[in-house]
Parts: sequence; structure tokens; C-alpha cells
Amino acid sequence: MTQTRVRVRFAPSPTGPLHIGGVRTALYNYLFAKKHGGDFLLRIEDTDQNRYVPGAEEYIMESLKWCGIEWDEGVGKEGPHAPYRQSERKLLYRQYALQLIENGQAYYAFDTPEELEDMRKKLEAEKGNAQYDAHTRGNMRNSLTLPEEETKQLLDSGAHYVVRYKMPENEEVVMQDLIRGTVKVNSGLLDDKVLFKSDGMPTYHLANVVDDYLMEISHVIRGEEWLPSLPLHVMLYRSLGWTDSMPEFAHLPLLLKPDGNGKLSKRDGDRLGFPVFPLLWNDPKSGEISSGYRESGYFADAFVNMLAFLGWNPGTEQELFSMDELIKAFSLERVGKSGSKFDPAKATWFNHQYLLRKDNREVAQLFDILLKEKGIHQPIERVEKIVSLVKDRVNFVHEIWEQAFFFFTPPQSYDEKTVKKKWKEDSPVILENLVKELHSLEDFNVDGLEKALHDYMENHQVGAGKLMTSLRLALVGAGMGPDLKEIMAFLGKEEVIARIELAVKTIE
Ligand code: GLU
Repeated sequence: MTQTRVRVRFAPSPTGPLHIGGVRTALYNYLFAKKHGGDFLLRIEDTDQNRYVPGAEEYIMESLKWCGIEWDEGVGKEGPHAPYRQSERKLLYRQYALQLIENGQAYYAFDTPEELEDMRKKLEAEKGNAQYDAHTRGNMRNSLTLPEEETKQLLDSGAHYVVRYKMPENEEVVMQDLIRGTVKVNSGLLDDKVLFKSDGMPTYHLANVVDDYLMEISHVIRGEEWLPSLPLHVMLYRSLGWTDSMPEFAHLPLLLKPDGNGKLSKRDGDRLGFPVFPLLWNDPKSGEISSGYRESGYFADAFVNMLAFLGWNPGTEQELFSMDELIKAFSLERVGKSGSKFDPAKATWFNHQYLLRKDNREVAQLFDILLKEKGIHQPIERVEKIVSLVKDRVNFVHEIWEQAFFFFTPPQSYDEKTVKKKWKEDSPVILENLVKELHSLEDFNVDGLEKALHDYMENHQVGAGKLMTSLRLALVGAGMGPDLKEIMAFLGKEEVIARIELAVKTIE
């Protein structure tokens, strides 16, 4: 590699929503680029038009933006190598296919689908390994077997063709991977991959290599599923005379299902009860809706932090990292070789940790949106107070309501179990006596209430357990919630008394 500047790319195909594994690939590329003061590119690989899904490209970009993964060059942010969408670069690839043909490293193949199928059947019957390669290409209809004149005629007549790479028959291909080390494969095992088609479109392999070269990519960081393509890519760099500018490669380990049995697939998510997509996806063909981390209530920074740890670790005990901290700490050396199991409980844990550390005002503003949807309008300071009281009990903003509904509405019912266990014969009297004290309490705040309750228990010889549980039942309707004095101070004297009176009247 001769480039000195670090330039990496995320090169998704817009064939559907981005899976979290894809977001992780983008994240690692981004972290690597920023760590080394380099560039992060977004290139859309849309050469396979049959697999194009409307909305997928927008989805990919929105996902990256939500995560805070900003690209320096790419679709929507044109730079010196524009355009960054391969379909718009179509005309550029043909010359490289022709160059390879001229040099004898690729050839035209005219085989029809039926002929290919015949070959497959015949070879499978013979020895089981049916592929278009050094052993079979001599029996097929291509520019290596047909007379030159016939090839020319076919091309002139507009016959369908593909350009195939002429994989050497027996050569050791030695590759270096930054994560896996040295990888070797004999070219005899590889087939003659299609590089280009008569409709003028390159395939993934040609377009990917040509663009990485032209865009001066220094490091290719991508999922392990592309490791089998590496020998072909390395051969292509060589055949095109670009070995000196070949990028370095790093193939990231797979994301596995929570039980470790196989790759985490797009279908796993909602089936196993957690999202596999960053954002909600509404499939334009099937109408099927798949959940997303954003809509499920995850904070983007918690999501990013969680993803960073799926395959990488800092080598210390620290688990919470901001994006800037990740950039500082990240290195490919600390990316593991083996697949990492996705752990949904850990994902929630990360969100909880972020929620705890967020500014109460920020969380309050998010919770306030939900309150307004319920028709509840409260000064933001009051919402903020509630957030401070219950946030350690929830993982998501939308769970706050379950922990705090009683701040806004008097009990509609009283939890039966708690009533049975804790509401005693003398509970009504105890509470009625308390009401008398509360009427005259001037400092209706946490300190004042602390003293008042304490004095009441002493003067009336009532145990804390007894008083507090029936009082809690009266105010909350159940045996839950934060500190009672906090609840009382928040509700205010009038509301507290009204709720106690309602309970005394209602609970049997
Ligand atoms: N277009 C490929 C994909 O969808 C890119 C693979 C690569 O990064 O080379 O994953």
C-alpha cells in the first residue's frame, strides 16, 4: 500500500434495511478513520438492480446519522471522487473489464442459462464439484474456445455475454488480513467469477475493486462474509497492475445469535424479541414492519456503545465510552477473531446506564412528550423532579410512566394483594389521625414531612411498616414507587389529604 492517508469506506448495497452487523461495520470504519485522522466514505453499491429496494438507501443514511457516524465523502456529501453511487459510475468500469480481456486475464462467455445448467448437472454426476473454472472453461462457449471471428460476430450481433475472470489453474494466493493474519488459498479451488455483463453493469467484485482503487482506499474493513472474495480481489489488484496501491484488509467477526448458534440474521430480531435493525423498517414489498432500536427507545449513544463492544474490547474494565472515547481507544488489534454473541440483556443494560447518566432535564423533555400525548401538562421542572426520583428503576424513557403514573393521577384502584396483606383493621384510623396532623403542617416539604411522620409514629405508637404501607397504598394504589415523602411533597397537601380520604372511603 502506498497511500499514507487513512481512507476507509462503508459500502452497503441498498437491498434492504441495514442490519446491526452492518452498522457495526460502519462504526468500526468510522472509528478507525477518525482515530488516524483520516476520511470515512459512504459508497452505495447498487450494481445489482434486481435486488434494489426502494427506500433502503435513505434508510442506510438515516441510520448512520442517527448513530452520529458522519461521512466525509459519499452520497449526499460529494467530494473529489464523486459520484459515490455505483450505478452512476457505470461507464467507468467497462474499460477495466476490457483491459483484463486484452491482457488475457478475463474472457467473454456466451453460455446460456441452459448450457450452464447442463454443465452443472453433468459435472455433479461425475465428481461433484461443478464450477466454471480452469477445468471446465475449455468445454464451454467463450472467447477462449470459440474462433476469434465467431466471438466478434456474437459481440457485434448484440448477443448476451458476461466477462469472466480467468482464474489461474494452480497458484497459491497469499493474503494478509489485519485480524486473521496470513490467509492462503490455492487458486485451483476458485471459480471464474463474472466481472461484467452485457447490459454494461459490473458485478460487485469488479466495481468494488475499481472503486477502492480510484477512491484511494487505504483499508478495507468489512464483514467476514466477504473473506471468501478476498483471493479474487487480491488477484484483480494484481491483474490490473495495482498491487502497489492495494489496500490493507480487515475482516470483522460475525455477529452471532444470543445462543451462539449461527449468524444473527435479519429474520431473528422480532422472532427473538429484540430489534436487529437500527431504525424501524417498513418493507415496501411485503408491508412487514420490523422494529428498530431508535423506535424501541434506545439512546443513539447507548446503541453505539453497545455495538462497539460486539467484537472489540478496550482491554480494560471500562464499558461506557462516548464516541470520542471510542475513537481514542479503538484499534483493529483489539478486534477478536471469533464471532460475538449478541446479548439483548446487555443492550438494555447499556441503555439503563446512559439513562442514569443523562441530564434529568433532557430525559424530562423526552418524557414530557409522552405526558402531553396523555393530555398531561406539567411545568418541566416538575417533570424533571419525577425523572430524578424514578430513573434508576427504568431502562427506557417510556418505562417512566409505569413507575410514575401516580404523580399525575389518583389511584383508580388499589392493588388487591397489597390490600389483603397490608391494609389492617386499624389502617383507616391511623390514616385519619395522620390527616389531622397534616392539615396543620406548615412545611409540607420532604424535611417537614420527615419530622411530621416521625413525630406521628412516636406520639401514636405506630410502627413505620404499618403507617408507611397503608399510606403508600392510599397515595399510589400499590406497594411501589420512590420515597413516600418525595411523593407527598410533590403532590402537595391538598392532594395527599384527598387521596387518603378516598382510600379510607374506598378500601374495604
Ligand atoms: N456491497 C458490499 C455489501 O453490501 C460491500 C462489501 C465490501 O465492503 O467490500 O456488504
